[in-house]
Amino acid sequence: MKLLENKTAIVTGASRGIGEAIAVKLAEHGASVAFTYLSSDEKAKALEEKLAGFGVKAKAYKSNAAVYADCEIFVNDVVKEFGTVDICINNAGISKDNLLLRLTPEQWDEVININLKSVYNITKQVIRPMMKAKKGSIVNMSSIIGITGNAGQSSYAASKAGIIGFTKSIAHELGSRNIRCNAIAPGFIETDMTHYLKDGDTSKSFLDKIPLGRFGSAEEIANTTLFLASDMSSYITGQVISACGGLNI
Ligand code: NAP
Repeated sequence: MKLLENKTAIVTGASRGIGEAIAVKLAEHGASVAFTYLSSDEKAKALEEKLAGFGVKAKAYKSNAAVYADCEIFVNDVVKEFGTVDICINNAGISKDNLLLRLTPEQWDEVININLKSVYNITKQVIRPMMKAKKGSIVNMSSIIGITGNAGQSSYAASKAGIIGFTKSIAHELGSRNIRCNAIAPGFIETDMTHYLKDGDTSKSFLDKIPLGRFGSAEEIANTTLFLASDMSSYITGQVISACGGLNI
């Protein structure tokens, strides 16, 4: 059964990793997909073609989620080209880990702007077409680190905790307009971002803390996203779903 037929979805940061898996999952379920990326031109082109293979409309946009004007241009173009936005997945993110003693103001700003301000930048744009259509689903990619914190990740944790507060506020603000807003808090998912965790002792110390005994896959986060994007979750808003193999218990 296809869950998203005749829907248009935006996914930020979809050239690789979790965003790519989400874009594929949504297209598989019948959604047309407009997605952004920052630097991976070839991967974005390949993904655009892969998505079109599902018989949906697909378009890649080189657009910096941290820059308000870029997001305004991007969403305006999506509305013009695709007609509306039904689903918005705020996924773009980076990590630049450093202990606070060494963390520079530039490193702090970069992480906060790409991970948190981006969510404001895009959400602010997509709620207009959603309000007009009197429906919408917004899914924001937080992290288990935004709930627990972690040494060396203060900027990342702050950005991901900020996303949770933002998500709950938007759920309050726009629930009466039939716009839902939820967050996902992934644990350790195998992508380029966590590549460095997979070796030797570091890997074992993380795995020991995960009841399911393994890292998650991008597809498992895409499945959670599909649930929150679709009408299967029509009575769920303002929630944070931890998809972390039990790491948080
Ligand atoms: P990833 O493999 O490093 O991929 C990041 C994606 O974001 C790439 O497509 C990249 O595009 C894009 N991107 C980066 N900065 C951008 C910007 N300013 N504007 C637009 N796109 C941008 O990361 P991932 O592991 O898939 O993570 C995806 C999201 O899940 C992030 O928000 C991350 O914090 C969150 N998350 C990940 C994990 C995990 O274990 N992997 C756990 C919890 C939460 P280019 O390739 O073109 O640069």
